[in-house]
Amino acid sequence: MCAIFGLVGNPEASKLTYLGLHALQHRGQEGAGIVSTHQQRPYALKKRGLVGDVFSSAELAELPGHHAIGHTRYSTAGGDAACNLQPFLLRTAQGWIAVAHNGNLTNASVLMRRLEQMGSIFQSTADTEVIIHLMARTGEPQLEKALTAALAQVEGAYSLLVMDQNKLIAVRDPHGFRPLVMGRLQGKPVFASETTAFDLMGAKYEREIAPGEMVIVDLKEQEPLRSFFPFHAIAPRKCVFEHVYFARPDSHVFGAGVYETRKALGKQLAQEQPASGADMVIPVPDSGVYAAIGYSEAAQIPFEMGIIRSHYMGRTFIEPSQTIRDFGVKLKLNPVSGFLHGKKVVVVDDSLVRGTTSKKLIRHLRDAGVAEVHLRISAPPTKHPCFYGIDTPTQKELLASHQTIDQIRNYIGADSLGYLSLKGLLEVCSRKSEEGFCHACFSGEYPTVQAHAALST
Ligand code: AMP
Repeated sequence: MCAIFGLVGNPEASKLTYLGLHALQHRGQEGAGIVSTHQQRPYALKKRGLVGDVFSSAELAELPGHHAIGHTRYSTAGGDAACNLQPFLLRTAQGWIAVAHNGNLTNASVLMRRLEQMGSIFQSTADTEVIIHLMARTGEPQLEKALTAALAQVEGAYSLLVMDQNKLIAVRDPHGFRPLVMGRLQGKPVFASETTAFDLMGAKYEREIAPGEMVIVDLKEQEPLRSFFPFHAIAPRKCVFEHVYFARPDSHVFGAGVYETRKALGKQLAQEQPASGADMVIPVPDSGVYAAIGYSEAAQIPFEMGIIRSHYMGRTFIEPSQTIRDFGVKLKLNPVSGFLHGKKVVVVDDSLVRGTTSKKLIRHLRDAGVAEVHLRISAPPTKHPCFYGIDTPTQKELLASHQTIDQIRNYIGADSLGYLSLKGLLEVCSRKSEEGFCHACFSGEYPTVQAHAALST
């Protein structure tokens, strides 16, 4: 998963892009980059690491100009090599092109092979570079025309910011898998994966870029923006997992507040999967907090922060030579032992993937003297990998793909386990946003043909 941010017409474009990326850090922690433009020349910096560590003030000062796009990376396609960091900046016969991409193309490897046979030399293993090669081959000087011709050949998920010396373009794939929003900062257009980036800098949220929409900003004139829909219209398939886990709870995604949606999912979960007689509802922090609040309200069971999360996790940990059991989870999540002793608890989390976190956490809760653990998950069982930009393990590693709910309950050591139904999830999300979600990770219904092919190989 990744984040993208971009803006035009601001003398502090690269600094603001840095701030925007900082607000979107949760979408990707591997590396970050910015491309700005001044007097039609591009300036770029990208490095591995967190946004706050990647850019120093001195380095940002070397990214001049009034227009910039930026990216934070969390590798799903192409691996975590430094060459895959974005924005990509490549030179073509028509001039330079910079691209920042959130999402995964499902036919990238086929296109990459074909392009290599025709003589393309790739600098990276990332799917995004395919788009630039396809653009270059059109020989089309108009950025929007080259981009439209390239995108007509790709399949899958893309929310993109594309810039050349004359224009900045924001475009979202026709399914609208990944979010992309537009706002105004001091009257000038600004684009981001999520609205929380706008809040930080006082930009005003205007609207979503619609699925299949391309918005073009002329860097010189800036207004009016041009918008058009160059692709065949198809039913939107917005990623429901953005609401469940991925997006920041203070964002608006697909037109709905993430916080309110997660709370409503918790309420629905309490109706579908009650746990009568429990003393308290405790979340797995941070992502389980909002559904747990909703569960507690609906079930009228007190909400308590019974598990404390450490926010000071570095990248690597020095373990003592005598291995500590469940070291990783203990570093991150710790039950409040005296307080929980003898209690019957409902533990709420947003998802169960491999089951490793829950298994270890439940063991810690037992060690802390908890009498009963009733695990409730505010999403359906995760049974299928995502090919549209969420980092999921292979199908084999997904616990729910080959185990029944009772087998999972037994494996993780809970007294009871209850998931939200797919129907309940979609009802809640459709009440909050417009309809049309991708739920392939839960249902296996992939909206694109290539994803099926990937699954069967
Ligand atoms: P697991 O231990 O594999 O079952 O992971 C479950 C935990 O991972 C839950 O607490 C989720 O909030 C979190 N989670 C779910 N999906 C992802 C993802 N794509 N990337 C990182 N964490 C995730």
